[in-house]
Amino acid sequence: MKVSPKGAPQLKEEVFEPGLCTACGGCVGYCPYIKAAADRVAMIYPCNCEEGQCYQVCPRTLTDLPFFRAQVFGERALEFNKFNQDSLEAVLGVCRALYFARAGAAAGSFQGQYGGVTTSLMRYVLATGKIDGALLVGGKPAQPRPVLATTIQQVEACTGSKYAAFPTLSMLYQPTQNLSSLGLVGRPCQVTALRKMQQVKAGAAGQVKLAIGLFCFWSLGPEFIPWLIEMGLGLIDKMDVTVDEVLFQKGEEVIRQNLAEIRSFIKPSCQLCYDPVAELADLAVGSTEYEADWNTLIVRSQAGENLVKEALQQDILEVKPYPKERLPLLKQAVLTKKQRVLQALKAEKENNRVGYLNLSPAEINFYLKL
Ligand SMILES: Cc1cc2nc3c(=O)[nH]c(=O)nc-3n(C[C@H](O)[C@H](O)[C@H](O)COP(=O)(O)OP(=O)(O)OC[C@H]3O[C@@H](n4cnc5c(N)ncnc54)[C@H](O)[C@@H]3O)c2cc1C
Repeated sequence: MKVSPKGAPQLKEEVFEPGLCTACGGCVGYCPYIKAAADRVAMIYPCNCEEGQCYQVCPRTLTDLPFFRAQVFGERALEFNKFNQDSLEAVLGVCRALYFARAGAAAGSFQGQYGGVTTSLMRYVLATGKIDGALLVGGKPAQPRPVLATTIQQVEACTGSKYAAFPTLSMLYQPTQNLSSLGLVGRPCQVTALRKMQQVKAGAAGQVKLAIGLFCFWSLGPEFIPWLIEMGLGLIDKMDVTVDEVLFQKGEEVIRQNLAEIRSFIKPSCQLCYDPVAELADLAVGSTEYEADWNTLIVRSQAGENLVKEALQQDILEVKPYPKERLPLLKQAVLTKKQRVLQALKAEKENNRVGYLNLSPAEINFYLKL
């Protein structure tokens, strides 16, 4: 793996100053000079430490993706690295199985964002003692807050997507109440940061045994919540994003707005995100953009596969085949995103700016020549 002997000054220059912080929380809590306040992360005091974990764990500093794929998926990653034109994995990342999925009959009676797969699985691993705590985002869409859930009720209370980025990884630096095994639900950048943290043994990252990554093509920056409040939407119960609309729900009332209304709040760091479907997660979960009460589920790691098998046997999860006609749409969405990012990073390199991804030439050629 390429390691960068860099620290806080470079993190400031390469990530904070150009506005590329993803607010994952991976560097918060490690150093007293980096702080989070709600969904903002900032270096509040200059630090001259030339070599630091803060730099190493950031998902927007040099990230050796092939290395981390091998770390998480072992042999399976080798096959992926061939970049076969017809391979599903070349686009979606390591994929042991791809389903439409939803919470099963024995999953409990909560209302998930879509099919409730994420909550159903986290609830199950906690209930069966596979983990004893889960790092989640709770609260309503306009009042998100980090939650270390240790009870089923707490997991259920965290259902629903909060589109503001939230630095939950900071909780891994807090005393974890003697918890030995943790679960994490995170945006793809957070799962990347988690893998980097596990590599350098930062905080309690090594205790995370299950990482469920959410599909995420963008999240919203710190100006979004003040805007929601100003619009009289500070108390909404649910928010959803469709292809061209954003839906704000309060009780039975649904307010629809054009997606363009919130586009200006998209975090600049999301424009450089190469990983919209959480490639390094054990399981990746998204919407189907087709059937509202189902999720798309990508089974990635061996641990993820074992869990899904067990959850199916226990009626915690229900799956059906991913519809063939939907596959080109999913692949195209991911492909377009990756191509756009590679083009942007290429342009940065030509301007002598640092590109954060270390990819094989085969991978770069695969995407740019398609
Ligand atoms: C910022 C953001 C952008 C997204 N963009 C897309 C997209 O472009 N395409 C797509 O298909 N899906 C996207 N998703 C995922 C989608 O909204 C659902 O979260 C996912 O499909 C899981 O659905 P579910 O029914 O299993 O959720 P639930 O069972 O309701 O569980 C939701 C889980 O998400 C966690 N969570 C909520 N907000 C956050 C957050 N900000 N950060 C980390 N964890 C959080 C909660 O703790 C909870 O555990 C996005 C999610 C987020 C948070």
